[in-house]
Amino acid sequence: MTQELDRDEVEDGVAPAIPLPADKDLLKAFYSGHRLLSPLGGNLELLAVREGDDGTGRAILECSTSSLRFELTVKKATRTEKQRVREAQADGSDPTCPRHGSEQRLSRLGPHWFCPQCGVRYGRAS
Ligand SMILES: [Zn+2]
Repeated sequence: MTQELDRDEVEDGVAPAIPLPADKDLLKAFYSGHRLLSPLGGNLELLAVREGDDGTGRAILECSTSSLRFELTVKKATRTEKQRVREAQADGSDPTCPRHGSEQRLSRLGPHWFCPQCGVRYGRAS
């Protein structure tokens, strides 16, 4: 009998993801949806996005050549970014991710606005 593992089990069952340095160019490519180059050659493919600690995001990436997993910590929202989200909300429009651009709507996660693409919390939803 085969049992399907959920993502958490898969992720925890293998070696822990290797932290990637929060390099500016890497983050820029990540926000714009461009290909991310693996430190080991090949590309990094996005496997999952999680909430990190204290409003940060965590992107789990897999190297296409080595199958090693990497984790990119996405820094938390700035005051300006939260302000922008608040203003969009006050205008009655659907807030979008200040980093991913106007195509990426934020989701509600509990009392917070959350970007499903970067895992960052962008302040409280009212
Ligand atoms: Zn985002």
